[in-house]
Amino acid sequence: MKKYKPDPARVRRAKEIAKEPEYYKICLCCESVVNVDTDLCEFCHSYRFTSKGVGQQAMKIATSEPRGWTGPARKI
Ligand SMILES: [Zn+2]
Repeated sequence: MKKYKPDPARVRRAKEIAKEPEYYKICLCCESVVNVDTDLCEFCHSYRFTSKGVGQQAMKIATSEPRGWTGPARKI
């Protein structure tokens, strides 16, 4: 299996999020990191969020292969 090489821009963004986790939260449905003032997840339209472990989640998404429309969005 080919190993996924993280996009440096996404990793940089994840580091920014980890530095200021109070401005972000995680969608409980699709695990995307969204702005803290988001009412409805822009990827899966869920309204349930958690602010726990935002930094780790951001880095996890940034270092894993982006998924297409068939899977959860998991965007940064
Ligand atoms: Zn979502």
